[in-house]
Amino acid sequence: MGEFELIGHYFASAACAQGGDGVVLGIGDDCALLEVPADEQLAISTDTLVAGVHFPHDPDPYLLAQRALAVTVSDLAAMGATPIGFTLALTLESANADWLQAFAQGLDQMARACSISLIGGDTTRGPLSLTLTVFGRTPKNLALTRSGAQVGDLLCVGGCLGNAAGALPLVLGQRSDDSGAAKALLQHYWSPQPQLALGQALRGNASAALDISDGLLADCGHIAAASRVRLQIELAKVPVSAALQAFADAETARNCALSGGDDYVLAFTLPAAKLAPLQAQGWPVHVIGSVQAGQGVELVDESGQRSLQAKGGYQHFAGSGD
Ligand code: ADP
Ligand code: MG
Repeated sequence: MGEFELIGHYFASAACAQGGDGVVLGIGDDCALLEVPADEQLAISTDTLVAGVHFPHDPDPYLLAQRALAVTVSDLAAMGATPIGFTLALTLESANADWLQAFAQGLDQMARACSISLIGGDTTRGPLSLTLTVFGRTPKNLALTRSGAQVGDLLCVGGCLGNAAGALPLVLGQRSDDSGAAKALLQHYWSPQPQLALGQALRGNASAALDISDGLLADCGHIAAASRVRLQIELAKVPVSAALQAFADAETARNCALSGGDDYVLAFTLPAAKLAPLQAQGWPVHVIGSVQAGQGVELVDESGQRSLQAKGGYQHFAGSGD
């Protein structure tokens, strides 16, 4: 199968590639064309996933596609943006029909769940990797950035943390378990649900936001640095799912929730007066701490002991001298 046949068969004909709001021209020309209303701004983010680094070698293609799109769309959620379209640069070792069929189905499923259109891409041969670029829109000057947290704000998250990290021993084949708890954790790893509706609801409410990809402590460090404040996290308030509690011992669950990556749950700061209205509307807003004067991230453990956290999270070139 040639490159053009492949693109036409698996991607251009997918339901998610038939256009949508804001897509003037999709796959097939030299560029896609998007239209953004005059009073809105374009939000753009790109993510690369490499086999053996971001997912195991020889992954399930359906789940891989779902996850790759979800983690990229999660950046739109973190800005409070509404998805428009995405491009897919796909590097494959070979063109296997079954693999491509499953991959395209996983992609289509997640694209439709997120209301985002496939608008273009590139297809090349080489070691398996994916680069997705997402385009969204936000009302002018209302995008949620990392830099607006104010002393006195509440620190909140949009759901339970640590589920995806809890699933890692299963993903890596170090542990096998077919309990309901294990299945629930795997679901979080392979099919994270970008918190798009929550992000949009936080526009004009949250003072800063991001999506947790590198772990709560590391990502809160980004808000603290960008906003020039200290974020204090109360460990006892960090929500952990029943599935993770059933699957892992207490210490592992705690480490997953604080430092495990891949949650794709929103973390945000909120003026205290905004809390009750958002909760009354049913939004998942869990207060886990507060914004204070200072810098860095401070953790308060169950016994009230405070500790300032070192900068952490996964860094690709850490220690390589590059
Ligand atoms: P060009 O040579 O002009 O860069 P290509 O031959 O790479 O164009 O791609 C032809 C068309 O197919 C373009 O519209 C491109 O955006 C689209 N395309 C290529 N690969 C993919 C893919 N994996 N998914 C979706 N669209 C793709
Ligand atoms: Mg090209």
